[in-house]
Amino acid sequence: MQAVPNIVIIGGGAGGMEIATKLGHKVGRKGKAKVTLIDCAESHVWKPLLHEVATGALDIGLDAISYRGHASAHGYHFQQGAMIDINRDEKQIVLAPINDEEGQELLPARHIPYDYAVIAIGSVANDFNIPGVKEHSLFLDNTEQAMSIRKILLNKFMRYASHHQLDEKIKIAVVGAGATGVEMSAEMHHAVEQLSGFGYKIDTSLLEVTLIEADERILPKVDKVEISNSVTRELKQLGVNVMTNTRITQVTPEGLSTTEGNLIPSDMVIWSTGVKAPDFLNNIGGLESNHINQVMVKQNMQTTLDDHIFSIGDCAACPQEDGSWVPPRGQSARQMALMTADNIILMLEGKAPKNEYVYKDLGSLVNLSKFHTVGNLMSFMGGGVLVEGKIARFVYTSLYRRHLIELHGVVKGTLMMLAKGIGRIIHPHLKLH
Ligand SMILES: Cc1cc2nc3c(=O)[nH]c(=O)nc-3n(C[C@H](O)[C@H](O)[C@H](O)COP(=O)(O)OP(=O)(O)OC[C@H]3O[C@@H](n4cnc5c(N)ncnc54)[C@H](O)[C@@H]3O)c2cc1C
Repeated sequence: MQAVPNIVIIGGGAGGMEIATKLGHKVGRKGKAKVTLIDCAESHVWKPLLHEVATGALDIGLDAISYRGHASAHGYHFQQGAMIDINRDEKQIVLAPINDEEGQELLPARHIPYDYAVIAIGSVANDFNIPGVKEHSLFLDNTEQAMSIRKILLNKFMRYASHHQLDEKIKIAVVGAGATGVEMSAEMHHAVEQLSGFGYKIDTSLLEVTLIEADERILPKVDKVEISNSVTRELKQLGVNVMTNTRITQVTPEGLSTTEGNLIPSDMVIWSTGVKAPDFLNNIGGLESNHINQVMVKQNMQTTLDDHIFSIGDCAACPQEDGSWVPPRGQSARQMALMTADNIILMLEGKAPKNEYVYKDLGSLVNLSKFHTVGNLMSFMGGGVLVEGKIARFVYTSLYRRHLIELHGVVKGTLMMLAKGIGRIIHPHLKLH
């Protein structure tokens, strides 16, 4: 029997999960190709929800999707492991060994053969090599980090609730006022409100969150200044100290130093500034990459130097007409994933991968926990429409709805959204363990 081509997708995030599912349905189930998804984690949590995981507002026990279970139901295979290299001569993805908690090797390094590979491993926050950031900050790049923030944050809140001096505050600095930093700042206030509702002696007046941004306004990547202004107003009303035009030069256990020589005292720093692809992607396998390690791709998402390797999502450098790169967003990852699946299917049929990606900005929405949602819709239509409140909240959740529908189909995806909604009514609004 003739072997079928191997399609290997590395990274099961917003983009990788959708391309694996689509290829599983279209070619995996029909035996036209073997589709394998590789991820370093066991289960998928949609990244835009990580700030909710970090504050305990979202229980990943309810929201995470097991890769193995999903793979077996959708025509693809799953292998757990972290990609560390690619051997283009042998057409193999190299995975690091897997160790247990004591450091004992469970699985040795593996080499996974591919005919077509899709690199979709996302991005991490950029520390810009600022001294002390790595050592003294927490990051929100993956579920593990979000869970560790949750543990530290809730322990801090609970310890504080039983031992605090009246004049003391919990000082938390969030560096980077993009969507992640802004949403995280609001979510922390929500967490404290919930704890207070559970009878803990803590309230939001004891929380001092400082949101720090180098640009002259928060949400600098969002075109509409009105959105920045509206979010700034709302954050200030919550008591968040918003500092713009502020550059951090060092992080120490005491706090953050600025270019002006000031110290921003802080008990905890959450670093959410900038985006870069993981360092090991820089020129991986001799492929071209840009200054933030993103793999350079052509408009059809094939890498510039190898037609059998594609890259999508945050880790791909896809050029736009005006010379900029496609922005690292959930919506671009998803659009690239669905189009790249079509291109790979064309190649399997011996045709040219002719579909070319053009970023269609459907808009940006910022959700300040339960307090406020604001954003801009249909930006690609020139200017777009400003939305706030319940409509904005509905559209904000629709990106996640579409993701679930892509992964599970219309009926199951909609039922899952409903079940999550019901779960949020039945279960406490904060996961405390
Ligand atoms: C708090 C927060 C809020 C956000 N809100 C929005 C929003 O409202 N709208 C929006 O459009 N975007 C939003 N984003 C951005 C969005 O989450 C990303 O742009 C999107 O997830 C990128 O998708 P991706 O598939 O490229 O990568 P990811 O979704 O990050 O997935 C990468 C996957 O690769 C895996 N992986 C990483 N390294 C390896 C390795 N070496 N080997 C194997 N697997 C690996 C990871 O485990 C992960 O599963 C938000 C991000 C954050 C953090």
